Amino acid sequence: MLGLMQDWQLTVDKILDHANASFPRREVVTRSVEGPISRTTYGNIYRRAKQVSNALRERGIKPGDRVATLAWNTERHLEAWYGAMGMGAVLHTVNPRLFPDQIAWIINHAEDKILFFDTTFAPIIEKIAPQLKTVTTYVALTDRDHLPKGTVPHFVAYEDFIHGHAQDAQWGGFDENTACGLCYTSGTTGDPKGVLYSHRSNLLQAMAANQSDVFGCGANDTVLPVVPMFHANAWAIAFVAPMCGAKLVMPGAKLDGPSVYELLETEKVTFTAAVPTVWLMLLNHLRETNSKLTTLKRVAIGGSAVPEAVLRAFEDDYGVEVIHAWGMTEMSPIGTIGKMLPESYAADRETQIKTKLKQGRAMFTVEMKIIDDAGVEKPHDGKAFGRLVVKGPSVARAYFKNAGARNEKGECLEADGYFDTGDVATIDPLGYMQITDRAKDVIKSGGEWISSIDIENFAVGAEGVACAAVIGVAHPKWDERPLLIIEPKPGAQPTRDQVLKYLDGKIAKWWMPDDVVLVEKIPLGATGKINKLALREQFKDYTLPSAQAAE
Ligand code: AMP
Repeated sequence: MLGLMQDWQLTVDKILDHANASFPRREVVTRSVEGPISRTTYGNIYRRAKQVSNALRERGIKPGDRVATLAWNTERHLEAWYGAMGMGAVLHTVNPRLFPDQIAWIINHAEDKILFFDTTFAPIIEKIAPQLKTVTTYVALTDRDHLPKGTVPHFVAYEDFIHGHAQDAQWGGFDENTACGLCYTSGTTGDPKGVLYSHRSNLLQAMAANQSDVFGCGANDTVLPVVPMFHANAWAIAFVAPMCGAKLVMPGAKLDGPSVYELLETEKVTFTAAVPTVWLMLLNHLRETNSKLTTLKRVAIGGSAVPEAVLRAFEDDYGVEVIHAWGMTEMSPIGTIGKMLPESYAADRETQIKTKLKQGRAMFTVEMKIIDDAGVEKPHDGKAFGRLVVKGPSVARAYFKNAGARNEKGECLEADGYFDTGDVATIDPLGYMQITDRAKDVIKSGGEWISSIDIENFAVGAEGVACAAVIGVAHPKWDERPLLIIEPKPGAQPTRDQVLKYLDGKIAKWWMPDDVVLVEKIPLGATGKINKLALREQFKDYTLPSAQAAE
């Protein structure tokens, strides 16, 4: 028997409809790419987004066509975002931090027809335009006076693009499973893969992300998403803020400590979100200038693990609650959230810190478990670790154009329908998940797994160590054994014995690295994480002393 409730398709145009109906005068503030701070409202954004839809339709864009943005978080980006999604086109956010050739590859793969870009990225567009096969119109997100000079073909200023178009347009009216957004994974191994969000997956993600034990925002909040719209939907904030009527503050191109601080204070921001590197810059600025955070209440941190120093500084020095979040592009992106339970509130501060450094508990709409290589589930005892697999309405089932398909249906799932995150984790009895490694970095020794991250975290505490990386090196008896690679602090020369002695008692005996080598510099990747691929390549012929002995 079916229920007798109304058919109300979960499409994201309804979010801006709601903002326009309920919070039309709530402000959206942008540090514009041109420089000055600009102020608008959800009501204006709604009307201009409708103009975008009409302009797109006039250029022949049809439902399902891909419309790309190469842009910072700004009010115009928000208008293009809702304008494209509302009419049933697919908004493809392109990450400008990728190499130009990768950007061109992605745009061609997505077959984007229109490309909105911030003038900051005009040099990239100029470079790749000759390679782009499907883009017919380039729209610079500015007015005519600020158009970049250059040779990009067919480009038009955004203000001219929408000028004269009606401020009303047909939105929605299609199935909630219709494609809505496209975002490519970073492609550290192989070509990037497209994650194709649906209206339903985005809308459910936004509702889940704004539960009180997740972001918990309301109409009295002022929200600053430093996390970019081109990185996994700005963690759903471009949906969450208009949905709940929060004032929105868009940082534009300036994400440095002083610029972020200025916006936090002048706009009286209460909630913000970004990766740890942004917060390191902000905290440095606060210390250097002896400044305080007078309105900020909560900061969501994710993308990589929250460093302990960042957690302690925000909470203990500045009175701002840290919300540790874990997720990925394929999860729309939020998976777990580190909000505390009554058990954690009752614990002493050091136990709380340990809990908060974990990646958190599954948010409603996310199911997760940890499994071994044979697919057998591991216990939730906080010690056993396994591959972290997830399920939910906002988790990818397949990649765009069936990239990375694992079955004949084109899906990228395990046999039981779970998505393998590529992370290795523990889950404790309270449900807090902790990442211990990326699956490809875990060291497999005699059928057991050794966490490279755990050893690294301890090793950086040893005297004279600036940076530490652990990789698995081939071993005739154990398959792989850990090799600890150290970048010393300037002038320091830590020895193998000193470092191993320091680790003694901190990690299990069989985790003890078989050797320690010093290098001048540990290579970092484009996102600032240790480039283990490069290290594995560099040490692929390395023979461990223990391997010689075993032969
Ligand atoms: P992306 O799809 O680019 O957002 O990258 C997702 C990956 O970033 C995850 O699979 C994790 O490996 C890593 N990641 C995200 N959040 C965290 C976190 N809070 N702690 C540790 N790693 C994280």
